[in-house]
Amino acid sequence: MRYLTLLTFFAAVLFSLNIEMPQKSVANGKTAFLEFTKKDGVSYEKLILDKKEYIIYEHPRDAKKLYALVPIDYYEKPSSKTIKLIYKQDAKEMSKTVHLEVKDGLYKKEILQVQQSKVTLNDKDKKRAAKEYDEAMKDYNTTTQKSYITSKIITPMQSKITSEFGKARVYNNTLKGYHSGTDYRASVGTPIVATNDGVVALVKDRFYSGGSVIIDHGHGIYTCYFHMSKFDVKKGQEVKKGEPIGLSGKSGRVTGPHLHFSARVASEQVDPLQLIELLNKNLF
Ligand SMILES: [Zn+2]
Repeated sequence: MRYLTLLTFFAAVLFSLNIEMPQKSVANGKTAFLEFTKKDGVSYEKLILDKKEYIIYEHPRDAKKLYALVPIDYYEKPSSKTIKLIYKQDAKEMSKTVHLEVKDGLYKKEILQVQQSKVTLNDKDKKRAAKEYDEAMKDYNTTTQKSYITSKIITPMQSKITSEFGKARVYNNTLKGYHSGTDYRASVGTPIVATNDGVVALVKDRFYSGGSVIIDHGHGIYTCYFHMSKFDVKKGQEVKKGEPIGLSGKSGRVTGPHLHFSARVASEQVDPLQLIELLNKNLF
């Protein structure tokens, strides 16, 4: 009898945990959104997917809710995933699972001709690119617990998109990964704005990405602006949504002038425009 009472008690707890996942499936390279309703005596601890942990944050606009972002690696194959929610019920650790379908993003292939020295690197450039990668990864792996985003996210410029996120890229007949962001048509000197409030995490001229600005928006969300010709911000500076951060250019590995705009969530590279749409729809 006591066992049955206990069972009924746990069943009631599970039933009353309110977890929402608006889309049940997500493509590789895109982000899934989960929302939790606060409940007395329950503390939502974290999410686990394939041994990686994801933080559950306070909802920026609804004090009764929490949310989490789960980015799916670009190289992830279509599969059925189980996201494990770890929570505490009256200080006792418990878990619940949510299923997520990973579907194929069906990204196309893109063939580009660039300077051969930006495809076959000499030792000095290899070292430099590796150092710059490590430096940026250190930023992306740093999670600011506070969110700077308080209103709808905007795009960094109003211009035609010339290349979408995710295309498999063939540089000078060599397959080199995929297009990690969204390209906007922009002649040298076109103003670029911050897509939302944040703190400038990096301002630097880098080997591949050229003149680069990275903004930390908090909650593990970063936006990146590459191939710039001029910077209007400094590292560590707070920026506001719509504030000019510099001018577009053609620095780094490019076929011509444009703005490469990308985003990271929980250190994973994701489709920036899908992320903006997802956050705007679910949080603001
Ligand atoms: Zn690009």
